Amino acid sequence: MSSGFVISFSKKCVVVTGGNRGIGLAFTKAVAKAGANVAVIYRSSPDAEEVTAKVGKEFGVKTKAYKCDVSDTKLVNETFKKISDELGPIAGLIANAGVSVVKPAFDLTIEDFQHVYGVNVFGVFNTARAAAKLWKENKQKGSIVITSSMSSQIINISGLNKPLTQVFYNSSKAAVSNLTKGLAAEWADYGIRVNALSPGYVMTDQTAHMDKSIRDFQSSQIPLRRFAEPDEMTGQALLLLSDHASYMTGGEYFVDGGQLIW
Ligand code: NDP
Repeated sequence: MSSGFVISFSKKCVVVTGGNRGIGLAFTKAVAKAGANVAVIYRSSPDAEEVTAKVGKEFGVKTKAYKCDVSDTKLVNETFKKISDELGPIAGLIANAGVSVVKPAFDLTIEDFQHVYGVNVFGVFNTARAAAKLWKENKQKGSIVITSSMSSQIINISGLNKPLTQVFYNSSKAAVSNLTKGLAAEWADYGIRVNALSPGYVMTDQTAHMDKSIRDFQSSQIPLRRFAEPDEMTGQALLLLSDHASYMTGGEYFVDGGQLIW
């Protein structure tokens, strides 16, 4: 294989929401390794600053953690302004923060709905718009990668005999995949590309709650017969973020071990 395909974000600033753990931390490390200064947005993890600083040291780039609830529009706008003042003009955003509530549909509440949609849809919208506003003001191009999920297309189950389907989570991912296309259409004229990366099952805190029997059943349904490691999401994210993807916008790209084949 040719070794000529290089992705570099040298000295550029990339924002990763939920970049302190799980898939987001894999993104943070991957963009740092590609030379970017990284702003990590997190909600409440006490070790987020330490984790973020460690990535900066490891790859010799500037990194900083920003505590910011992505569902809070005012705070998001202020945080993006602060990031570009402190780390330089933002070149890319990975809108990755996401949450789920695992409960039978009969037990779900309005608070559960607001929590899941507040982060997975409105939080993505808030951060994407904050970045796009700065790019529009500065007449600058930019790329946004949104972490959706293969569950934008299918219903993933967390219970075998009695299916438990995370209805708010799955439907929020369908919403955010559609939102990706709308933002891509509206912002293409400004040189802003917006794409969704939709993982299958990935080994993180979000899948840690699954019983082994469910995990084994789900693995048997995946052509590659296993859950992914967070690192396996990074190649597609780097590509979409980079200028190599200059003709790609409004797409949804599945990194799911082939699960959607059948
Ligand atoms: P984790 O549960 O491991 O991490 C979630 C991250 O989101 C944390 O960094 C958390 O910050 C942050 N976060 C949550 N709520 C907010 C908020 N209101 N404001 C700011 N940050 C917030 O998630 P994963 O790594 O598993 O998932 C990452 C993304 O990938 C999500 O969008 C998820 O839906 C999607 N995905 C995951 C799959 C999987 O199998 N794991 C499969 C398909 C999609 P803090 O640490 O401070 O709480």
